[in-house]
Amino acid sequence: MMKGQVALVTGASRGIGQAISLKLAAEGIFVVVTATSEVGAEATVAAITAQGGAAQAVKLDVTNSSEVEALFKKIVSEYGRLDILVNNAGITKDGLMMRMKDNDWDSVIDTNLKGSFICLREASKIMTKARYGRVVNISSVVGEMGNPGQANYCASKAGLFGLTKSAARELAKRNITVNAVAPGFIETDMTAVLPEKGREALLQNIPMERLGSVDDVAYAVCFLISPQAGYITGQVLSVNGGMYM
Ligand code: NAP
Repeated sequence: MMKGQVALVTGASRGIGQAISLKLAAEGIFVVVTATSEVGAEATVAAITAQGGAAQAVKLDVTNSSEVEALFKKIVSEYGRLDILVNNAGITKDGLMMRMKDNDWDSVIDTNLKGSFICLREASKIMTKARYGRVVNISSVVGEMGNPGQANYCASKAGLFGLTKSAARELAKRNITVNAVAPGFIETDMTAVLPEKGREALLQNIPMERLGSVDDVAYAVCFLISPQAGYITGQVLSVNGGMYM
């Protein structure tokens, strides 16, 4: 049913974005795999091709609005459609608030929140004309809970909930759904930097007593972008092993 659709995934060179791209491609969806360098995105495209799917690697820095605008125009001229957007690109610049530099705040908000807004704005222009669209914003459990040392990151991820809900209301009558997925702690490069002690403390707060896998998140995204999820919008789907506040 989704065969022939076109999806764009941001931050898809590795981790969660790569897993989402692979799952979408396995559904027969053509995936525009983006990362801050084309070379980075190519690894994911190679994995998609190896499993029999189709994809294109493109450089996209989500903080660069002219680059984003140009890419969405190119997608329309090359493929004639964009059915799915997954706003996954994200960074951390952790530190206690008292010591956090303006630049650490700005770069995290610019990438995680403003970058998602710019991509969503451009996607909504295409989807509105088509009267069909599926958008998923990758937020985080800490956007709901807060986390010491991550004021910038938590603010950006909490901001995505507001963006998701507002966009869902604006776009509902055009048959475009906008939802968020809020992963708990997932095994990726982002969490690989956690010190062993911090990791042990973390596991004690996860009822399932394990970190999540990238596939746990990708399956949730796959459900939300499916035609079967067409009456679900403005929601936050938590994928966190039971780790609630
Ligand atoms: P990751 O392994 O660190 O990968 C981050 C991705 O974002 C990379 O593909 C990176 O591209 C891309 N990226 C960074 N800055 C970018 C920019 N300015 N423009 C475009 N792409 C950019 O992260 P992850 O763990 O897979 O996380 C993916 C998403 O899930 C993030 O939004 C993260 O906040 C969220 N999340 C993760 C966890 C977790 O436990 N891992 C939990 C909750 C939420 P390059 O390779 O080109 O740098």
